[in-house]
Amino acid sequence: MHRGENAVGEQAVRGPEPRALELEIPRLERGTVPMGVGKPQNNRPRVGLGFRVWKPRVSKANREKLKTLYNDIVNFSLGVTSELRGPKYLTYYAEEWEKMYENVKEMRKRAGKRTPPRTPPLLIPVRFVMPDGSVRGDKSAPCVVDLRRGELRISSYGVVQRLRRSLVRALVEENNLNPRPDFVLQVTRRGFLRLVASRAPPKRDASALLLVCVDENLGHGLHATLIRFNDERVRVARGPTFKPPNAALLRRIAAQLQSAADTGTTSELRALIERAYEELNEKREVEGGELYAAPDRLRELYRRARAKERRLNREWRNRVVAWLRRTVRANADARAVVLVDEVTAETAQSGMLRRVRRKLMNLCAYEGAEYLPLRASGKLCPRCGAMGVEVARRIFKCPKCGLEWHRDRAATFALALNYAKLTENEALYRVLLEWLNEHPRALLS
Ligand SMILES: [Zn+2]
Repeated sequence: MHRGENAVGEQAVRGPEPRALELEIPRLERGTVPMGVGKPQNNRPRVGLGFRVWKPRVSKANREKLKTLYNDIVNFSLGVTSELRGPKYLTYYAEEWEKMYENVKEMRKRAGKRTPPRTPPLLIPVRFVMPDGSVRGDKSAPCVVDLRRGELRISSYGVVQRLRRSLVRALVEENNLNPRPDFVLQVTRRGFLRLVASRAPPKRDASALLLVCVDENLGHGLHATLIRFNDERVRVARGPTFKPPNAALLRRIAAQLQSAADTGTTSELRALIERAYEELNEKREVEGGELYAAPDRLRELYRRARAKERRLNREWRNRVVAWLRRTVRANADARAVVLVDEVTAETAQSGMLRRVRRKLMNLCAYEGAEYLPLRASGKLCPRCGAMGVEVARRIFKCPKCGLEWHRDRAATFALALNYAKLTENEALYRVLLEWLNEHPRALLS
């Protein structure tokens, strides 16, 4: 029953690998049109939209073409030039772009910054060619994502970019969703691409209920339990445990590297550099020369340690998100509610949880699930409510009814009970307790 304290980035149960990269949710500034996805009705920004973002790889040659395209359209939008290569349709979102630009400028001014702001990405309408040859999206959109040939084209600028197979598969699935998402292509000023899907399906009206109960824990990561309730019957399945990546050590080492580089302190430098190598999975001896070149070497190692820390955290978030998306889509016949006992403390680790939480909320909006923060205690007996006694590490026993449970697992079950109380769903509450009586040891692991 002992859980290793420092499980090195291992997940007790690994979530599925994301089929396509889950990336940062586009940040929406107040008052802007959400990334130009679809023209908003009555000029009101849409609320409650969920997003998915893919970043197709772009070859060097295509990046140059895309930079030219970017500059052409920006210059045209800003009135610097009056001629436009390619169809007028490329400027379909010019107005939205200008608004975004004004907004960025305004924010910079308010923040007291004087350097000119970076120009926001362009938005370009997209159509898809499906594997069967049918076309989805606006028939005259200048960007074609050809899922039959596995390429993205912007003909007027000669851009033909091959797409990875995993991305093609993901986009086929996305196009077949009901309701189908809105898509738009973003071209950044540096010639990179982002394909953004957005949608806000109505909450499902179904008799079956899927509760995804997630307990956040600072040191122990996320614990999840799945509960399906239908026809007065309940099915309970242990979900994965997503142990947090072992990034805290990297962060500490990075901080030490940085301060050693800044202060020029050389004591135990060799040991510090060796530890950094170890964390970066490089088994090698520190040479004398590296110690002479210390500040530069330290800064370089600092950058690499930070990059690895960010990568570990990002991969962790992606695993959580991919698992939840798969779970919600696999239960398309049920009304899905994601219950989260949120950690409220403010630490570096809680920042990581906050970021994954934001992704889960976005996912719920996109998949038509509900996100509901709820409190639940892992110390109270889920059966009778008495305060448990800790009999082993994170294992509790009820002095009144004798039930034993693992604190994190019980917390997820308590979330479902609290949800039943909150929604006055007496049948759900009753069958959950019945289930617990029949499986008294189920919350032990
Ligand atoms: Zn009890």
